[in-house]
Amino acid sequence: MHLVALPAFTDNYIWMLHDRQRALVVDPGDAAPVLAALDAQGLELAAILVTDHHPDHVGGLAGLRARLGDGPVFGPARERIPPPYIAQVDGDVVQACGWDFEVIDVPGHTAGHIAYVHRPAGRAPILFCGDTLFSGGCGRLFEGTPAQMHHSLSRLADLPGQTQVCCAHEYTLSNLKFAAAVEPGNAALQRYIAACQALRARGEYTLPSSIEVERSVNPFMRCDVPEVVASAIAQGATDASGPAVLAALREWKNGFR
Ligand code: FE
Repeated sequence: MHLVALPAFTDNYIWMLHDRQRALVVDPGDAAPVLAALDAQGLELAAILVTDHHPDHVGGLAGLRARLGDGPVFGPARERIPPPYIAQVDGDVVQACGWDFEVIDVPGHTAGHIAYVHRPAGRAPILFCGDTLFSGGCGRLFEGTPAQMHHSLSRLADLPGQTQVCCAHEYTLSNLKFAAAVEPGNAALQRYIAACQALRARGEYTLPSSIEVERSVNPFMRCDVPEVVASAIAQGATDASGPAVLAALREWKNGFR
C-alpha cells in the first residue's frame, strides 16, 4: 500500500492510496493532478472519498467520473456534494480497493464534515481528516460551533498516537507560528517548528503528521493545558472550558499574522 500526497492549487493536498494497480483519492478539488498521477504510474482509479463539500475538495469530481467508471464516490451524508455518491454517517465502514475505512463525524469547519480512518494490519493507521485537523491547527468554523470542533478534535486525539494525519492543506508553518504565540513555553513545539522549517526549505511536505505530534504541538488539541488556557483567557475566553478556550483561540488565529 502506498500513500502519496498530490499537491493542488496553491496549498492543497489530494491524498492518493494505491497498490500499484488500483488507486483511491481523497478530496479531489482538481482532476488534473489526479489524472497526471494515474497516467504516470499506470493506475486505475477505483474510488473517491470526500470529507467536505467545499469546491477545493469536490471540484475535480466531474473531471474524474469518466476515469472512475462505475467506481464509488463516498461523501458526507449531511452535506451536499455533486451526485451521485454514497452518503456516509458516523460509524459507517467504507470499502474501497479492498481496504476498510471507518467514518467519523467531525463537524465544525462545515456542518457535516466527516473523516476516514484506515487501520492496516501491522502498520500505523491512516487518517484522512480534510479541513478539520491541520498540522498545528484546525479549520475555520464556517458552519459549526466551537463546541462541535472541540468534540471533533477530541475524537481525533483519541486515535492511536502513530496514526498518520493526512489533512487537506499545507498550512503547517503558519499554524505553528500561531501555536508558538499561544504556548511560548512548549519545547516540543519549538523543536517541531525547526523540523518543519527544514522540510519546507528542502521543498518537502510537512505531512503526514501524526496524532502523537498533534497532541504535543497543536494548541487546538491542547485546550486543557494550563499555558494554553491562560493565553486563551488573556484573549477573552469566557471560561476555562475546552469549547471556550477553542473559541478564543480560533478568533485569535483568524486575525493572526
Ligand atoms: Fe479546504
